This record gives sequence, C-alpha cells and structure tokens, in this order.
Amino acid sequence: MGTLTVYDVIIIGGGAAGLSAAQVLGRQQRRTLLVDGGPPRNNRADGIHMYLSRDGFPPLELLSTGHGELNAYPAVDTVHARATAATGKIDDFTVSLDDGTERRARRLLLATGQVDRPWTLPGLAERFGHSVMHCPFCHGWEARGKSIVVFGREPAEVMLAAYLADRYSDDVVVATNGPHTLPEPILANLRALNIRVVEETVTELDGELDDLTVHFADGERLARQVAFHRAPVELQTALATQLGVELLPDGYVRVNEFAQTTVPGVAAAGDVARLAALPDGLTLVSQAAADGVRAAVWLEQGMFRADLPVTMG
Ligand SMILES: Cc1cc2nc3c(=O)[nH]c(=O)nc-3n(C[C@H](O)[C@H](O)[C@H](O)COP(=O)(O)OP(=O)(O)OC[C@H]3O[C@@H](n4cnc5c(N)ncnc54)[C@H](O)[C@@H]3O)c2cc1C
Repeated sequence: MGTLTVYDVIIIGGGAAGLSAAQVLGRQQRRTLLVDGGPPRNNRADGIHMYLSRDGFPPLELLSTGHGELNAYPAVDTVHARATAATGKIDDFTVSLDDGTERRARRLLLATGQVDRPWTLPGLAERFGHSVMHCPFCHGWEARGKSIVVFGREPAEVMLAAYLADRYSDDVVVATNGPHTLPEPILANLRALNIRVVEETVTELDGELDDLTVHFADGERLARQVAFHRAPVELQTALATQLGVELLPDGYVRVNEFAQTTVPGVAAAGDVARLAALPDGLTLVSQAAADGVRAAVWLEQGMFRADLPVTMG
C-alpha cells in the first residue's frame, strides 16, 4: 500500500471498538486503515466477562479472532503502529505514524481507549488485572465469599468496598495507604457494612490470587484472597485535542448519539468517549464493540449521503 492512498476512514486503536468498526466498514467496501497500536486495556485479565457468548474468553484471543475475520474484507488494511499526530478537516485528514509514514483519510475514528495507572506500591501494578481486580461488574462474581482488600483513598474508590460488601463478601477491608480523612457519610456506610479501614502505610502486596498478603509499615500482615483497586485512568485523548475535539470536564471525548465528536468527520468510540448525558463512562468490551459499530455505520451513512448526486429528503 503506497502512502498516497486516501482512505475513506482511518481508525486509530485496534481494541474491541476499533476492530468492530473496521469489520463494519470492510463489509461496506470502504477503504479503511486500522492503526493498531498495541495491547488493549484488559490485556492482563484472565478472561472477559459480560460479553454474551464469550464469558471468560481471553482478551487477546478476542482481538486475534477479530483480526482473522477482517482478512475476509480486502478493503481493510491494518498497520501495527502508533499514531503520533492527527490534523486536518473533514474530507482531508492526515495521520502521522511512528513508523515514519503519513496516512490520509476523509474521516477519522478515534478508538484509543484509556490506560489504568495503579498506585506505585511494590507488588500492586504487576498484579493489576490478575489478582487485583478493577471492577465489581467485571470480576465481582469471581470474588464472592472471599476475603477482599480494597486499595483506595477517594470516595469513589472506597465506595467500591461498600459495593463489594453489599453484594459479594462479608469480609472486606479498605487500605488507604496512609492517613486519610473520609467524609462521615462514607465512613457511616463502611461501618454499617462492617468494613474495617486501615490507614497504615502499605509497604508491599505479595502472593497470588487466593493467597495474597498485604504488608503494612507497622508490621501487620493481612491475608486476603482477592484485591480490588479502582486505579486512576488516563484517557488517550492527545489526538482528539490536536484535532480540536471537545472533551467533557472529566476528560472523555464528547460524542453524540451517532458516536460523532464536535469536529465534523471525526467519530470516537469505546472507552475514550461518552455521551454527555451519562454520569460516567460505561467502559465495557460489549459497549466498546457496540460503539465501534455505531460510529462506523454513521460515518458510512454520512459519506454515502455526502457523495450522492441527489438530495435525500
Ligand atoms: C483489568 C481489566 C479487566 C477488564 N475486564 C473486563 C471484563 O471482564 N468485561 C468487560 O466488559 N470489560 C472489561 N474491562 C474493560 C475493557 O477492557 C474496556 O472496556 C475495553 O477494552 C474498551 O475497548 P476499547 O476498544 O475502547 O479500548 P482498548 O481495548 O483499550 O483498545 C484501545 C487500543 O487503542 C490503542 N491506541 C491507543 N492510542 C493509540 C495511538 N495513538 N495509536 C494507535 N493505537 C493506539 C491501544 O494500544 C489499544 O490497543 C476490563 C478492564 C481492565 C483494566
């Protein structure tokens, strides 16, 4: 493929959102470039849950299956590279890749996701996604009846403990990793659910799933079967910002019901984007896949209508 090809759509990000969009566009015979920049967010998880027909399926296998299906659609090219810059306007976008090439397209789809940034405690980051879970919807079922530690300081992080105690376990401890004043209504919730809050500094987490130990600075060791940590996330919006796309106050790319951003010709799908009406991002594989389909359908319809020699009513 020469670098002068003008694609109909360049999709940036090869997770569930980007791959799903690529399949839709490939089937419509739209010249599409999928820029696949590396592993997805749930890379380290043992399995995907809440994806009908694929419960417990390995995340990377889902994506490799998707790539295999794309082989049936010759209109789709895939390049394994990172997009470093995106400029232009509708019908004339340019994307620079870290392989030194520039690619052009009429439309862009941002499916760049978000990256979790777990606390930098010894032993925590390397267990994130495996013995340290991030979300009770995704992995609470696997923790039912088990002893749980929740690493968290902020109200939303700590309320995760209340959720787990309400739904899955009567043995939940919160580790705040140092003194931290929580609002009284939150403390009242934790007390009502018999959740102990340990404010001592955490020095290390070691062990494996079902046999974890939290080490505290005062010498206490807490044996736990599962850990949860709602890690801070970094939305991958650098390209969106370069293009002038509006972000919501919490950093998500603002999209409408058609998965289109505020810049004509630029759509966004998956964990990177959300509707303004939602209180938070619904960051799930099934949602990302559905968003990718939605974005691709409306990009396709937009181009079809723009190119028709007649006006539709
Ligand atoms: C530990 C963990 C477990 C999870 N378990 C579940 C679960 O059981 N069920 C569930 O429904 N959800 C789960 N999730 C959430 C799920 O991972 C996300 O909702 C889903 O991956 C979002 O898909 P996406 O395509 O939007 O983003 P991603 O899957 O993150 O894909 C985005 C892609 O874009 C690429 N990219 C980013 N920037 C660039 C760039 N500049 N150039 C090129 N490529 C780029 C990234 O490398 C990545 O490949 C889990 C998340 C975590 C952290």
